[in-house]
Amino acid sequence: MYVNTDTLAYWALINIKKELFMAVEYIYSDIKQPLKMVVWDLGRRCNFDCTYCTGWMHSTTAPMNKFEQYKRTADFIDKYYKIYSKNHAKDWKITVSFTGGEPAINPDFYKLLPYLKENYPYLKLNLTTNGTWSRRKGQFLLENLNSITVSYHCEGNDKQKQLVRDNLKWVREQIGDQKWKLRVNVMMHMEYFDECVDLIENFLKPNDINYIPRTVGDDGKYRSEWFKDADGAMRRTSHIYTSEQQSYIKNHWNAKNAEVANVKNPAVASLSKNASTPAESTIDIKSNGVTQTASKSSEIEIKLLSKNTSTPAESTIDIKSNGVTQTASKSSEIEIKSDADDGHVNKLGRMCCGGRCMTVKQDGAVTDAMFINQTNFQGFSCMVNWFFLHIEEDRDAVYHHQTCMARFSDAPKPELDKSKFGDIVNKFHDTKGPICTLSNYEPYLEWLETKFSSGSTPTITCPNTYCGCGICVVKAKDKSDFVSIANKYVEYHE
Ligand code: SF4
Ligand code: SF4
Repeated sequence: MYVNTDTLAYWALINIKKELFMAVEYIYSDIKQPLKMVVWDLGRRCNFDCTYCTGWMHSTTAPMNKFEQYKRTADFIDKYYKIYSKNHAKDWKITVSFTGGEPAINPDFYKLLPYLKENYPYLKLNLTTNGTWSRRKGQFLLENLNSITVSYHCEGNDKQKQLVRDNLKWVREQIGDQKWKLRVNVMMHMEYFDECVDLIENFLKPNDINYIPRTVGDDGKYRSEWFKDADGAMRRTSHIYTSEQQSYIKNHWNAKNAEVANVKNPAVASLSKNASTPAESTIDIKSNGVTQTASKSSEIEIKLLSKNTSTPAESTIDIKSNGVTQTASKSSEIEIKSDADDGHVNKLGRMCCGGRCMTVKQDGAVTDAMFINQTNFQGFSCMVNWFFLHIEEDRDAVYHHQTCMARFSDAPKPELDKSKFGDIVNKFHDTKGPICTLSNYEPYLEWLETKFSSGSTPTITCPNTYCGCGICVVKAKDKSDFVSIANKYVEYHE
């Protein structure tokens, strides 16, 4: 769409794109208690062989790890957590979330759970599972876990998928009004998308089961073409979605955003509130009595041309959606960026994996949101080391976070068995990689104690251009914002 810039003295319509976007200044999730989430990967062994899951993440033949090894790891978690919780912390809690591979197929997992309950009763325990366990094991899991997350994988066979549905229904009945104890991550497989939609619309919703539609290809592994994996299998770890598929996912998150959007940022709230019916959304650009309208299908990018216009007072931008109009004045600066036109999920934006509502400051305005359009926070101050810990038994490695892998550049570097890491080892450097090993974690804990005893609160400067599962973690561009929101969780010291 072309707009005559003579009549639009103040605004220039450079290129029309779809969605209102403003740069994020900070994010935090105002959950009641600060929570450290320990993701404990118990081993790669799995009874599924999903094509989007690399051989480094799973194996149908890898040996299963033993209870004695898990006990040593539990001891490490206890020591690590206690260093954080006694320093600068404000009533932090800890949840351990077991993952793999498939944890529930390892017999020693059924020894580990009662052991942890008895020896570390302060731990809350969650399991992420593909949901293919017997009813007897399901009963044990319900009795020994605080919550269960079932990942629904379309590449399972019909019998497995029916078992998952049966188990979900059974667990839902067992937990009664404690709905939060069960969540389903629906892996939105591009080739089984209709099956995923059917599961959501005709099974999860009617059975009142919490769910999150998860796109395939998050976490920095954007290989959308088939490739031969290290284990010889052909895999494709990133899915490219059609515009209809993108719309389904975006509409889900827009509706969620609308549920939580507050009035602090009415323009954003209004857009998200009405996004499920985008046909009625328009953007009007008015200047000196002339109006140009961009429809929902237009792509819009608007930039401030000149502040020396002769009649700036008469220039406005109206964002209309389903009869609701929000007006941006001449002094506003609005940039509208495109949707994920190529279908790559890293451009779609990001929700919190745990389904948390986030408080976001964008372009000076504060709003609540379930989905953030921005995923690059490089250079932001970030508390990922406070909120997360990731443990990989098979690789003998500990990270702050699995996908972001941010680390302190001045911490001692662990001695890794590089043969266990494949190409990923090339990504490791001073600010990225494992923080220590499970077999020799003492030097790191000593360093951490020293760091705290120096008086400053250890936090990370984001080294990445993509933030995946760490999206809800406290992060801010400016130090003053960061100090202010970090103080909600810790006694922050420079
Ligand atoms: S069920 Fe999970 S761990 Fe197993 S292959 Fe699929 S994605 Fe990987
Ligand atoms: S990628 Fe990691 S360090 Fe960067 S903002 Fe996300 S969680 Fe924080």
